[in-house]
Amino acid sequence: MITGHLGVALAARGQWPVVSLFWLLGASIAPDLLDVAYALSGICSPYGLYSHTIPAAALIGAVLGGIAFLATGSRAAGMLTAGVVLAHLPLDFVTGNKIFWPGGPLLGLRLYQRPLQDFLVEVPIALGGWWMLRRRGRGPRWAIIGVAALALVVVQGTFDLLQRGLKPSGCRWAATSAPSLPRENR
Ligand SMILES: [Zn+2]
Repeated sequence: MITGHLGVALAARGQWPVVSLFWLLGASIAPDLLDVAYALSGICSPYGLYSHTIPAAALIGAVLGGIAFLATGSRAAGMLTAGVVLAHLPLDFVTGNKIFWPGGPLLGLRLYQRPLQDFLVEVPIALGGWWMLRRRGRGPRWAIIGVAALALVVVQGTFDLLQRGLKPSGCRWAATSAPSLPRENR
């Protein structure tokens, strides 16, 4: 999932304006950012083992939530940050195919294999979040203008059109994609 995550951050900030929107947007895609960092450093994290399993997400949520708490002094900011990180997993279940526990089975509805359906699922979540933030009037101007909504739709459409191989992986076997192994998903 791509813009659906951002929609969660937008909605969360609209509901609880306790920490910066920019921070929440980052928290919402933190497991994916971590995957990119792993790939850049050549670390193999098969099927999201070190980024998308429940223990990994709990750790990311605790670290980022702790940083938010220390930076703002607000317990609500820490809790909201951790919650936004954890919301990443159920959303990725809809679109991807990952393990949720070390050694667990691959789970997910794999909507990425049906780009149109993925678009139709993610865009309403993204725009719903944008609309909630805008309606509450608690977001920075750049996030609540119409151009921001348009950008979400364009970004999602671009990802769905070009989706193959967009996410880098540090796993050598993923690059050669052995036929018996399903493709790694975002
Ligand atoms: Zn993800």
